[in-house]
Amino acid sequence: MNSRRDFLQKLTASAIALPFFTEHASAETKNKNDKPYDGPVLKVAIMGLGSYGTRVADAMVACKAAKLTGAISGTPSKIKAWQEKYGIPEKNCYNYENFDQVKNNPDIDAIYVITPNGLHKDQVIRVAKAGKHAISEKPMAVNAAEAREMVEACKKANVKLLVGYRMHFEANTLEVIRMRTSGELGKIYFFQGLSGFRIGDPTQWRLNKKLAGGGAMMDIGIYSINGARYMIGEEPIWITAQETKTDPVKFKEGVDETIQFQMGFPSGAVASCLSTYSMNGLDKFYLNGEKGFAEMQPSTGYGPIKGRTNKGELNLPHVTHQTVQMEEMSAIILQGKKPVVPVDGEEGLRDMIIIDAIFEAAKTGKKVMLK
Ligand code: NDP
Repeated sequence: MNSRRDFLQKLTASAIALPFFTEHASAETKNKNDKPYDGPVLKVAIMGLGSYGTRVADAMVACKAAKLTGAISGTPSKIKAWQEKYGIPEKNCYNYENFDQVKNNPDIDAIYVITPNGLHKDQVIRVAKAGKHAISEKPMAVNAAEAREMVEACKKANVKLLVGYRMHFEANTLEVIRMRTSGELGKIYFFQGLSGFRIGDPTQWRLNKKLAGGGAMMDIGIYSINGARYMIGEEPIWITAQETKTDPVKFKEGVDETIQFQMGFPSGAVASCLSTYSMNGLDKFYLNGEKGFAEMQPSTGYGPIKGRTNKGELNLPHVTHQTVQMEEMSAIILQGKKPVVPVDGEEGLRDMIIIDAIFEAAKTGKKVMLK
């Protein structure tokens, strides 16, 4: 347990140093206040300059071990704005047609793919073939078969594949995981995960089966799936699921609105979860063991994450999730660091296998067994 404690202590120490920098703090201000960093720096290009891509870029301003050096976009005006805002040189800018040329660019080590889900597979495989490390946003693909192809392609190209699971680096989340692994909660029996928001514009890609791969499950339900796995600390062996659709015009065939699902784990622990695009403010985890509990709400939002356990409040300091994530991903890629909870392609693949099983269980009404 000591290594976990050490990790948390280190994380908390860096967490304390970081809140002085807002997402928009300049690198110049940072250097004045901070000890100079002389470790390796991961040079990152972001692909897909949308809402989340911008959030990651802003958060990276405060990073020491990762630096935004490139941009890949289908929208020239966004490239121009990013060049000005983040100081990205012209030679590090690409579009979706020519980004394979990144192969010859030593200023980019890794490409963070932050485009619609249905595009991740082809884009990540092209990144791997260009010899660059790939970070894919969640869900890494739209099904397990695609995710497997991505894992294989990155293995073959000898590059790392990571998935943007920012909660795996969040201090309060890691504290609950520490309590569970140290036995403080006793044998775990139950997890509840509630993930949802009310989706707006019916024309957006998130409601397009081809681009999204599904509906709420791919986008937000995945937090409860992933959370159940890292909170319970086991892999599910069976799945049951029930789907409810109140608006078949907005939520077309293959685009799920609301799914309740249950997962059974080898120890006998059970997870009961809800994924929805119909209700706002659903962001809650609850973990219960024979000796104690942890309750987090919000549990996966951008933070601060709040909650309590049988021991009291969870109050480790908030640090911009994407800043911590990119610092840690730099250490994983460049220094072989092993995170407490993995963020590699295999980890992303496990969630995709479960999502496939949830869709099958919802469709057939049968319990689906997992290997
Ligand atoms: P946005 O729609 O805001 O941005 C997506 C960007 O992808 C677009 O702005 C566009 O950028 C690019 N793009 C390329 N092809 C298309 C296309 N056919 N249709 C639409 N956009 C296209 O989405 P988000 O940023 O919210 O989500 C992107 C990814 O990030 C998703 O996989 C999502 O699940 C994930 N995400 C993860 C979060 C997390 O907390 N980990 C939070 C939010 C999203 P350009 O114009 O530059 O080409």
